[in-house]
Amino acid sequence: MKVYLNGAFVDESKAVVSVFDHGLLYGDGVFEGIRSYHRRIFKLREHIDRLFESAHTIMLRIPLSRAELIGVVKQTLRVNGLTNAYLRLVVTRGEGDLGLDPRKCARPTVFVIADKIQLYPQQLYSRGLELITVATQRNVPEALNPQIKSLNYLNNILAKLEAINAGYEEAIMLSSSGYVTECTGENLFLVKGRQLLTPPPFIGVLRGITRQTVMDLGTRMRLTVREELLTRHDLFNADEVFLTGTAAEIVPVVKIDGRLIGRGSPGIVTKRLQRAFRQVTRTAGVRY
Ligand code: PMP
Repeated sequence: MKVYLNGAFVDESKAVVSVFDHGLLYGDGVFEGIRSYHRRIFKLREHIDRLFESAHTIMLRIPLSRAELIGVVKQTLRVNGLTNAYLRLVVTRGEGDLGLDPRKCARPTVFVIADKIQLYPQQLYSRGLELITVATQRNVPEALNPQIKSLNYLNNILAKLEAINAGYEEAIMLSSSGYVTECTGENLFLVKGRQLLTPPPFIGVLRGITRQTVMDLGTRMRLTVREELLTRHDLFNADEVFLTGTAAEIVPVVKIDGRLIGRGSPGIVTKRLQRAFRQVTRTAGVRY
């Protein structure tokens, strides 16, 4: 695979960054995970906008315009001859010294990795996932806002480790006040009757792009779609629960902390949303 790195396409074995890069030393940088389907990049504009917003908040100047970055993303896919792909777009603070001071980093590092999509096992979608809530709380927005998609993912990794140690694949993270936030790399939804509910960003979640797509699809299906504070009790007593994310798409959840969700198998609303989602990925997106 060829990797775009600071203005050139290099072989993946040559795609290396400095040990003085603050992305590595401090997690000082931002990123996006993007997917392409059938030679169309899904929600590209939304991903680029979110990247620029994350960068703006951490006062990181991306050395390419939006249009240039879109061009780079398309070119990375073309150069690698990929039809269905997963892309990682990363902008770090760049090389500096061993201190924190971002002013010492003269030039941001920009790279784009494109790879074949690593599909999750099919049984995840047909049987559904079992989750646990973990002790590691989601970062409080007042300290490090989860809306910033930064390279600092230790909060999520600590939660993921707890799930793995307990024999589960994924964790539900709570806020400091005990409300449901999100999983380590996916947003959470519940279905109760005709209501489709998901936690509001202020409680400490990433504004997922798949989350927004699913909210739009839910509205089109005439569900009542709302952002609402949710407790574990709400999840346990939901008809259906599912996760959303660029890589995972829509994943049914059938058990949480030992409690069966609904009938313990993927629900009908989840399945309808999965079908509708598949449909939009086929027809929407920026061609390359
Ligand atoms: N929450 C977190 C913490 C994530 O890392 C991701 C994946 N980027 C998501 C939610 C899902 O967001 P999206 O639908 O934009 O991929």
